[in-house]
Amino acid sequence: MLTGVRIVFLGGDARQIEVIRKCVEMDATVSAAGFDQWEAPCDGVSLELMSVELLSNADVLVLPTVGCDDEGNISALFSSQHLQFLEEHAVALPGHCTVYTGMAKEYLRRLCVKHKLKLVEMLDRDDVAIYNSIPTAEGALVIAIQNTKFTIHGSKSMVLGMGRTGFTMARTLQGLGASVKVGVRKQEHFARAEQMGWKPFLTENLLQHVPDADLIFNTIPGMIITAEVLSRIPKHSLIIDLASAPGGCDFRYAEKRGIKAILAPGLPGIVAPETAGIIMANALVQLISDETFNKGG
Ligand code: NAP
Repeated sequence: MLTGVRIVFLGGDARQIEVIRKCVEMDATVSAAGFDQWEAPCDGVSLELMSVELLSNADVLVLPTVGCDDEGNISALFSSQHLQFLEEHAVALPGHCTVYTGMAKEYLRRLCVKHKLKLVEMLDRDDVAIYNSIPTAEGALVIAIQNTKFTIHGSKSMVLGMGRTGFTMARTLQGLGASVKVGVRKQEHFARAEQMGWKPFLTENLLQHVPDADLIFNTIPGMIITAEVLSRIPKHSLIIDLASAPGGCDFRYAEKRGIKAILAPGLPGIVAPETAGIIMANALVQLISDETFNKGG
C-alpha cells in the first residue's frame, strides 16, 4: 500500500489516468495538475493547477512517459493549461522527492542533477520495456497491415535489433506465419535467433540481406538503414522504424527512391493506452513501495 505517500502527477495522456487510478487504489494521497478536462475523474484524486506550492508537498512527482521537452513543456492531453516544468519547480520539490518518468530528455536530467533530485526513468527497466514491447509489436502490425497490399503471413519480414522490442517483434511476426530474418551484432543473439527458428544475420552484412525483404522493422536506435542500404531495398518494401526519434532510417532518401518508410514512435500509448498505463502503474507502485520500504517509511 502507498498510504501516506503524497504523489503529484503533472500532465500526461490516457495512460496516466490508469496510473493515477492505481495510486488512488493503493491509498496514496494523489494530486494531479493538467487534468482539468478529464471528463470523469476518479474519486480520491485532487485536481489542481500547476504551482510551486503543489510541488512543495510532493514525496513523489510523476511526469508523463516522455517527461518534458527541452524547454520543460509537459504534454497534457486533458488540459487547457500549458504545463511547464521550470527551475523554480525543481527548487520547490522537497529533497527526498523522487521524480518518475518513462524517459527523460537532457533538460530534465540536468535539472534533477542540479537540484539533487532522484530521477527514475521507468522505460530503462527491462521488465517495463519487455511488457511495453507487446503493444509496440501489435501497433507495428497495425501499421504494416494498413500500408501493404499483401499479408504478413508468407511475407519476408526483417527485424533489425534483437533487444527487448526486436525479440517480441520477431516472435509476433513468426506467429503470423512470416518468414523472419533478424539482424544482430552479437553471436549470442545470432544463436538465440537460430534457436527461435528465425534466420539471423550480422547487421554488418545488411546490404546482402535487404534485396528480398517485404517488411523491415527497425529497433536499432542509430542510423542503420542508410542511403546505400535503401538503394538495395525493393520498391514495394515497407519500412517501419520503431526506434526513438530520429529513428534509424534515411527518410529523405527513402522518399526520393519512392520507398515507404514510417517512423512510428509511442505505439503503446496509441494502440493500447489502457494496457500501457497499467504497465507503467504496476512498475511505479512497485518502485515507490520498494523505496518507501528502503527508507523505513
Ligand atoms: P534494446 O533492448 O536496447 O534493443 C536495441 C537493440 O539494438 C539491442 O539489442 C542492440 O544490440 C541492438 N543494436 C544496436 N546497434 C546495433 C547494430 N549496429 N547491429 C545490430 N544490433 C544493434 O532497446 P528496446 O527496448 O528494444 O528499444 C529499441 C528502440 O525502440 C529504442 O529506441 C526505444 O526507445 C524504441 N521503442 C519504441 C517504441 C515505439 O512505440 N515505437 C516502443 C518501445 C521502444 P546489443 O545488445 O548488441 O547492444
